[in-house]
Amino acid sequence: MPDQAKPAYRRILLKLSGEALMGRQDYGLDPEMVRRIASEVRAVHEFGVELCIVIGGGNIFRGVSGASAGMDRASADYMGMLATVINALALQSAMESEGLHTRVLSAIPMQTVCEPYIRRRAMRHMEKGRIVIFAAGTGNPFFTTDTAAALRATEMNCDVLIKATKVDGVYSADPVKHSDAVRYDRLSYRDVMIQDLKVMDGSAIDLCRENGIPILVFSIHNTGALVDVVQSRGSFTLISEKG
Ligand code: UDP
Repeated sequence: MPDQAKPAYRRILLKLSGEALMGRQDYGLDPEMVRRIASEVRAVHEFGVELCIVIGGGNIFRGVSGASAGMDRASADYMGMLATVINALALQSAMESEGLHTRVLSAIPMQTVCEPYIRRRAMRHMEKGRIVIFAAGTGNPFFTTDTAAALRATEMNCDVLIKATKVDGVYSADPVKHSDAVRYDRLSYRDVMIQDLKVMDGSAIDLCRENGIPILVFSIHNTGALVDVVQSRGSFTLISEKG
């Protein structure tokens, strides 16, 4: 790390989708990918950035899929939230192997496996240099972990919500399907809403906008990208009020 390297943020919330933990598999967890993410988180932590994480569950179960298969939507969503707890425990284990101190806080109380979510406790963990992993989304059905990320970023007074995706930012169209898709360096919340860009769901964007939390979108598949983007380096899209 060059001497002049400085983090651009003091406290960040990292949103990892379940898919990020899946690596090249079609389902579940790729241990190699989970290890790599844990080591990138360590690099950011060693850089002096306070960090908390919201983890998704789409690599295991999504409520909408259960509902489309005839299941009651609320029950299917609870299954999705439980999937995020599985991912949180996997990530915690990999991060502790990296020598990091972590706590999993679940929005659905599950005393025998992790702590319940209590905002002041989460704050205290972060002040002590622990990495907090928020599990079970918002704890409510009909929401997503993107909304949970916007909510926790606000509650934890984070300077930025960093969303890890498969591509290095927000594009005008899906860059995998459209070779002429353009990547944006900066966007306003309004641009995202008006152009219906698929970044996060509307309620998550709204919550970030109302609370002035910028959203940074980058690719978790580029090794080392996380430590770059916390220094405002490399390839990413930044979404803010003025764009
Ligand atoms: N979920 C929910 N409430 C929340 C967060 C998540 O009901 O506050 C459920 C929902 O069924 C969702 C699943 O958990 O499909 C997994 O979360 P998400 O789809 O956001 O995960 P990701 O796409 O980030 O992997």
